[in-house]
Amino acid sequence: MVKKHQPIFKLFNASFAVLIPIALWTVLLGGSYSLNSNLIDHTATKISSTRGEMIYRLAGLVLQWNIQHGLVYVPLTATNPVNPFLTSPDREITTSNGLILTQMTSPQMLRQLSKLFGDESVSLTMVGTNPINPKNRANQWQQAAIEAYTPGQQPYNNIIDGEFRYLVPLIAKSQCLGCHAIQQLQLGDLAGGLSVSFPQESIAASTATLHRQNMISHLVAYLLLCLISSLLILKIQRLIKNLNQEKAQRDQIIDNKTANLRAEIKQHKIARSELQRLATHDPLTGITNRRHFTSVLNKEILRYQRYQTNFSLLILDLDHFKQINDTFGHDCGDFVLKEFAAQVQQWLRKSDIFSRYGGEEFAIIAPNTELDSAKRFADKLVRDINKIEIEYQSHKISISVSIGVANPSLIDKLTSKSLIAITDKALYLAKSSGRNIAVTALAKL
Ligand code: GH3
Ligand code: MG
Ligand code: MG
Repeated sequence: MVKKHQPIFKLFNASFAVLIPIALWTVLLGGSYSLNSNLIDHTATKISSTRGEMIYRLAGLVLQWNIQHGLVYVPLTATNPVNPFLTSPDREITTSNGLILTQMTSPQMLRQLSKLFGDESVSLTMVGTNPINPKNRANQWQQAAIEAYTPGQQPYNNIIDGEFRYLVPLIAKSQCLGCHAIQQLQLGDLAGGLSVSFPQESIAASTATLHRQNMISHLVAYLLLCLISSLLILKIQRLIKNLNQEKAQRDQIIDNKTANLRAEIKQHKIARSELQRLATHDPLTGITNRRHFTSVLNKEILRYQRYQTNFSLLILDLDHFKQINDTFGHDCGDFVLKEFAAQVQQWLRKSDIFSRYGGEEFAIIAPNTELDSAKRFADKLVRDINKIEIEYQSHKISISVSIGVANPSLIDKLTSKSLIAITDKALYLAKSSGRNIAVTALAKL
């Protein structure tokens, strides 16, 4: 039967195997990319928040400074027009050397401060819900942020329509903040708010770079990882293929050797059984030999001694066989021996042991056979053998046989030797009685 060899590893389809790491990298790097993008966006928001808070603190310092002095006068010059709306003679003083100074309000200071940032986009204003100067009126989002304020909450902080918006509500205190900017208020009233706003563009520009870098680095890493893992997988696949091929070859060699070994074992068995056959059989006649006969006889004697199972022994000797050799030649004698053995074998029971005891002497062990039955059988053998004619090279050769018959019951000290001796003696009597006869041993030895 042809054995199917199992490979060490089962090989996946190459394209399927490559798809596995590609899918893995897609998930991992896709996740990492979107995580980083979120982080960049979050950081941008954080930066905007911090910037807004920083501007607010600066404004707070300026306001504090203004409040501290109660009134701040600045020269009214072309380069410092302050706010034309607020310049009025009752707010101006003229120094002895003719320099005109005008009062500087907090909102004015804030406007100037926001210009000082050098970034036109930063809007730093102090707004009121109902200011004297309409310029300081809170716009829609500022108004909404002021109205939504509840004491103790964090300042309004949001990014809407690409603009960062930060507003801290202002509560009226004893020293009115921007008295000129807002109407008279009661102590503790919500006066308005300090608002900082700037477009997200400036931050967005730097985050766009970060986003681009994030995308490029992830794309490069993704492509590299896909390439390396694909190459690795293909290499591993080739390795596995080679290993499987080597294993199949080794298995084939083992199979061949096993088959050879089996054939050798079979030959050895045949040779051994042939040797056994040769050791126990006679090469000329094909029946069992003297060695086998002796072994069976010993066993039968043991069986008899233990279980009293009787058996009989017959020793046959062809009469005047020498004459056949002398007349027709030795080959003819051989042929007669073979024919005789074959013929007798046919008349025996399967349980009988028929052996070539010597040159033209044969022995029969008949198990479970009493002496009288054995004698009757021997007589019949004598008669039947006497009737046969053996044809050899157009010669018809008649033969006769003398038989000695004996049985263990005739012997006191039973051994194979003594049984053979008593049977031989009976055979001798048969010969001396004129041959072609069977004689039973009588005397106890
Ligand atoms: P008897 O009736 O007294 O037995 O006479 P016999 O001639 O058979 O007895 P004897 O023992 O004198 O001779 C036996 C002969 O059998 C002698 C031998 O040449 C012959 N013989 C023994 N073995 C073989 C054999 O294997 N082949 C042949 N062809 N002849 C054999
Ligand atoms: Mg003889
Ligand atoms: Mg003889």
